[in-house]
Amino acid sequence: MKIIMLGAPGAGKGTQAKKIAQKYGIPHISTGDIFRANIKGGTELGKKAKSYMDQGMLVPDAVTIEMLLNRIQEADCRDGYVLDGFPRTIPQAESLTEALNAMGDAIDYAIDVAVPDEAIITRMAGRRACLGCGATYHIQYNPPKQEGVCDVCGQELVLRDDDKAETVKKRLDVYHQQTQPLIDYYKKAGVLAAVDGTRDLEEVFQEITAVLGDASCQ
Ligand code: ADP
Ligand code: ADP
Ligand code: ZN
Repeated sequence: MKIIMLGAPGAGKGTQAKKIAQKYGIPHISTGDIFRANIKGGTELGKKAKSYMDQGMLVPDAVTIEMLLNRIQEADCRDGYVLDGFPRTIPQAESLTEALNAMGDAIDYAIDVAVPDEAIITRMAGRRACLGCGATYHIQYNPPKQEGVCDVCGQELVLRDDDKAETVKKRLDVYHQQTQPLIDYYKKAGVLAAVDGTRDLEEVFQEITAVLGDASCQ
């Protein structure tokens, strides 16, 4: 099963993608996590990505597309994956469609997690992220068991630099301009499912699994 998560920054894509990955036994691929791991590791890719990310802008398509297309050719992706944060532009979506077409394949579902901008601002201010394993928490809505420490891997949780209010506003602008058109793109492809992302995270997950069905034994 090949799934794309759509939605604004902070809509809950990562939170839901992790739950989907666990339920259906497929890898969760977050382009943001891959970039952050590269920044942490001081790689060339990390150096290229950092200045864009710090400004709330998108990393250029060429770099991002190559990275993602390589990732989905790895062995663990054979039975599918859930993409979180890719595609974010029409050229990225087109490249993915073409690459899958060439293999006689296609995306099964594009899930739009819909949340209005006002709610995004509060969510981002309370988000805490683990740079070790990519888990995210919310100080109020989804707190870790021990304050400031990741439940999954025990590393320290941080407020990401790009989650500061000013950068979040910029990222929302970028989202509306460059990423929102993908909703229409996947609607036309006949694979779009929209869920109400303002509800409690377990309720959002139930709505998603109602769409995906019980495909875990596929
Ligand atoms: P969020 O989960 O809050 O939406 P991400 O972790 O997905 O944030 O992305 C963080 C940053 O990484 C983005 O603001 C952007 O700079 C960069 N990035 C991630 N995915 C992409 C992509 N598909 N295309 C371009 N830039 C990306
Ligand atoms: P994205 O990957 O779309 O940027 P995240 O999954 O990181 O978003 O979620 C953004 C923030 O909102 C995190 O702090 C997360 O814990 C919190 N969050 C996610 N889903 C919900 C929800 N349904 N209700 C309230 N807070 C949520
Ligand atoms: Zn962790």
